[in-house]
Amino acid sequence: MTKQRKAVALISGGLDSMLAVKLMQEQGIHVEGINFFTGFCVEGHTHAIRKRDQAKPKRNNALWVAEQLGIKLHIVDVIEPYKDVVLNPKHGYGANLNPCLDCKCFMVGRALQWMQEHEFDFIITGEVVGQRPMSQRADTMPIVQEESGAGDLLVRPLCAKNLPPTLPEREGWIDRDKLLGLSGRNRKPQIALARQYGFDDFASPAGGCCFLTDENYAHKLSDLWQARHSREYDLDDIMLLKVGRHLRPRPNFKLIIGREEGENKFLEGYRKQFIHLRSVSHTGPLVLIDGEVNDEDLSLAAQVTARYGHGKTAEQVEVEAVFPDGHSRQLSVTPLAPAEIQSDWHL
Ligand code: SF4
Repeated sequence: MTKQRKAVALISGGLDSMLAVKLMQEQGIHVEGINFFTGFCVEGHTHAIRKRDQAKPKRNNALWVAEQLGIKLHIVDVIEPYKDVVLNPKHGYGANLNPCLDCKCFMVGRALQWMQEHEFDFIITGEVVGQRPMSQRADTMPIVQEESGAGDLLVRPLCAKNLPPTLPEREGWIDRDKLLGLSGRNRKPQIALARQYGFDDFASPAGGCCFLTDENYAHKLSDLWQARHSREYDLDDIMLLKVGRHLRPRPNFKLIIGREEGENKFLEGYRKQFIHLRSVSHTGPLVLIDGEVNDEDLSLAAQVTARYGHGKTAEQVEVEAVFPDGHSRQLSVTPLAPAEIQSDWHL
């Protein structure tokens, strides 16, 4: 009897990995998915918080893809080891702080380790030659194979015909003739294939699969490193960069201002870690202070808090500042005028 071959698929939640898995399933391969949680993923809670994102399905796309395909999904927390990829990418960054090539090498390397530990036979990804400017170019795809250590155990079913045959093809575990030869940035063939398979509700990330490709997010992360004089971060830091309006009125502190009720509620979860402010005379946002502040800074923070609440045109607004140890101070302030909020405060 022929041995049932098993492949582990990198699942980001996008269409390409979904199609790659489908092509393998059609060839009788047992596929399970692996999804790496770096903390920078576009998925998850931030979509669920904001009203303007309400039209988007509030789901984890990787889990949704796995469910559509009827495969097991293994979600692996790589927050700690991934830091070295973000902080010291050997191949540098893309347009923003996205270390895509190092990231791909890292993820395929981790998938290889998982494959060996779980006695699977090969790895598949939804990569397409020429689709992404950094990690999916004809000259960088072999780098991923080499630096991850996966070599020819890495199969890219969507563009395999443009690449040298891999071990699973040479050994006859999969039929090369049934693999595809896609290339370039045109998404039409993938969309047509998705229709053919009956997938009609897939996610299609515009820039990339994580916040590191987002210009505004990358700016906020650079600001965080600069303010702390250290290129470090923890999970709370990178989650908070996804939420609220961020203003840095002084080098020693920044304010994170909830833009709507969902964000205010989310920020409430950080009340024990940061000084937080809220107007008590008018409704308004919850504001966190990230940094060390003196009395003058606290007063400025209260004026900004008043500015973003319903008392913004009032002469006096009462703001309460609560410290992480629970003690509080009441401040009577005049809301800042719009012109006093300097444009370079906005991160
Ligand atoms: S967009 Fe983000 S997750 Fe995707 S390859 Fe680039 S760095 Fe990695």
